[in-house]
Amino acid sequence: MQFSRLKLNGFKSFVDPTELLIQEGLTGVVGPNGCGKSNLLEALRWVMGENRPSAMRGGGMEDVIFAGASTRPARNFAEVVLHIDNGERLAPAGFNDEDTLEVTRRITRDAGSAYKANTKDVRARDIQMLFADASTGSHSPALVRQGQIAQLINSKPKARRRILEEAAGISGLYQRRHEAELK
Ligand code: ATP
Ligand code: MG
Repeated sequence: MQFSRLKLNGFKSFVDPTELLIQEGLTGVVGPNGCGKSNLLEALRWVMGENRPSAMRGGGMEDVIFAGASTRPARNFAEVVLHIDNGERLAPAGFNDEDTLEVTRRITRDAGSAYKANTKDVRARDIQMLFADASTGSHSPALVRQGQIAQLINSKPKARRRILEEAAGISGLYQRRHEAELK
């Protein structure tokens, strides 16, 4: 999956609509402390279905909405759109009609999150599965947070296996088995 564009609107410090072009190869984000580099990565994780406020460095999910500053009032919603290049039609069935797959997540105060794939409303689970199958999900080892390397080294074998399974692209299967067992 090649991500091509990340669009933020009202997400954390990105109060004004902001676009990040993601080209093939390595993308570096540089800037002074507090300019929003980590917020960008969190936006990427969030649009892929991250649901743990702690992974967003917040106390609740609504903390991702721009909270206001001395000169700007707080916003009522936050939206992140991720464009994925689908020219080769590699996206799974149901997500595969267009050259670009656009995944949108929007959170509104007191109304929770809603997701779209292109223009279609979808469930959080559909998005989480999409990225789990592609091994790029919000828990993916492709996104390495500060301190995670040490965590990998120090983790117990079972936890380490989970990380390797995610990298191997089979963690979506576990989720489906778990759901099948609950039925
Ligand atoms: P460093 O180089 O120190 O790691 P960084 O570039 O990674 O910095 P971030 O941690 O991404 O910076 O950005 C932190 C900034 O985002 C802080 O100024 C914080 O106030 C702001 N911020 C976080 N959440 C919100 C929010 N909900 N509303 C407004 N601003 C926010
Ligand atoms: Mg940072």
